[in-house]
Amino acid sequence: MTNISLIQGDITTADVDAVVNAANPAMLGGGGVDGAIHRVAGRALLEACKQVKPVNGVRCPVGEARITPAGQLKARYVIHTVGPRYRIDDHPEDLLRNAYRNSLQLALENYCKSIAFPAISCGVYGYPMDEAAEIAFGECSKEKYQSLAISFYLFSQSDLDVWRAVCESLLTL
Ligand code: ADP
Repeated sequence: MTNISLIQGDITTADVDAVVNAANPAMLGGGGVDGAIHRVAGRALLEACKQVKPVNGVRCPVGEARITPAGQLKARYVIHTVGPRYRIDDHPEDLLRNAYRNSLQLALENYCKSIAFPAISCGVYGYPMDEAAEIAFGECSKEKYQSLAISFYLFSQSDLDVWRAVCESLLTL
């Protein structure tokens, strides 16, 4: 997993081609990392999100991903994905894996060389950090994404410690 790095910090500072946003289905901003990304990216990001056509009233269903320009962020793109709500949505592990897969796929389709992820679903949506990390590494370490430099931005030192421990345990399997 040499193309994967773990960083403690604020994802809005990431100098990458694509920053992934843990969005909600309406894609019009919210709390947590979504709010932070929209604050830094500014009005241009909100306007870009409004251009995304809703289907059956939602711009981005759970597990899917959408790409927009990134406004004032250093990144070129924001990839908006919606993670599952733990203990509410059925089969959250499949939905979380889909969120990673669809985000990575969009990055490749748009010729990105680098991508930064937050801990999707691990805030308000309640996904346990260790379970989420295992799913994230499982998807991101696939051969087809080897050309992408993938960084995970963990917001706190304790979150970083959990992700690091999961990463090390997978490497020793
Ligand atoms: P979700 O609704 O998918 O759970 P949240 O935004 O509530 O999304 O939380 C996802 C994760 O992002 C949490 O671990 C939270 O601590 C983290 N987070 C919040 N702000 C930032 C930020 N600026 N940079 C990186 N991670 C952040």
